[in-house]
Amino acid sequence: MKSKHMAPKRNYINTKYRTQNPYIDANNLPIRHIKSTSINPRIKSRKLNSRKNNRNLQKKRKINKKKVRLLIIILLIILIAIIHNVKKDKKIKPVSAIGNLEIENANINNSNLELEANSSIPEIDSKTTDWNLILVNRYNPLPDDYEFELTSIETSHKADSRVAESITKMLEDARSEGLKPLLCSSYRSIDTQTKLYNNKVKEYKKEGLSDKEAKEKASFWVAIPGTSEHHTGLAFDIVSMDYQVLDEKQEETDVQKWLMENCSNYGFILRYPTNKKKITNINYEPWHYRYVGIENAKFIEKKGFCLEEYIEYLKQFE
Ligand SMILES: [Zn+2]
Repeated sequence: MKSKHMAPKRNYINTKYRTQNPYIDANNLPIRHIKSTSINPRIKSRKLNSRKNNRNLQKKRKINKKKVRLLIIILLIILIAIIHNVKKDKKIKPVSAIGNLEIENANINNSNLELEANSSIPEIDSKTTDWNLILVNRYNPLPDDYEFELTSIETSHKADSRVAESITKMLEDARSEGLKPLLCSSYRSIDTQTKLYNNKVKEYKKEGLSDKEAKEKASFWVAIPGTSEHHTGLAFDIVSMDYQVLDEKQEETDVQKWLMENCSNYGFILRYPTNKKKITNINYEPWHYRYVGIENAKFIEKKGFCLEEYIEYLKQFE
């Protein structure tokens, strides 16, 4: 009876274990036993391998993460650098933009000036070919075919007949003001000019200068024959009777003061002003007056031109 009774009890325990004991598997064997006996060594190694792989993967992931971080940092640095450069460019741009604007404005201004000069009507109705605007200087000798009539003035002098009246009137009016003007030079032929020039060259040669040096220095005081304005019969040297020296002090005489102020009323200009030496290539001569006509003289006076500058001004409209 006992044996019969005990048997089901075991079974009961067994069945109980089958379902509830976690240490017994479906074959009614303890799990530890199953593990040690049922797993193939290959599988075990695979598992070990997979663990290793996992570790490797984790390592790789870690390395990749590091790489990604590094990349992000590098990209950020590049981005910051780019932004910095853009800011720099922006800082520079306004300066260059101003520069460009200035250049553009300058161009516009220049073109405006050109337009003004080309499109506007000249303020004066004169031509560079007008007889009273003939330009004779170092670079523009008197043309060989230049013809005009001479009229005697002030007893021993000659002038272009067209200006004889004007020069005479100016001298008379100065005298009527109580002044003592003296006409010392007027029309001069090329022959006379040659004599004057050669004499000056001789003077410098006596001082020990070479022929070339003497001619160069002489030409600064006496125009090379053919290039003197006195050949035109339109130029006159007037000094004060009280100071008959051709130097800068001539400008201090009452005669010169009056002439400089009034000459334009008679159609004359002071031909070689002190501030135009570089253009005229002639030293300051506060005694040399040139006839250009009243309108031209007034315009030249107003603009502060010398004759060379006035000719250039008129050329714009021709
Ligand atoms: Zn002169």
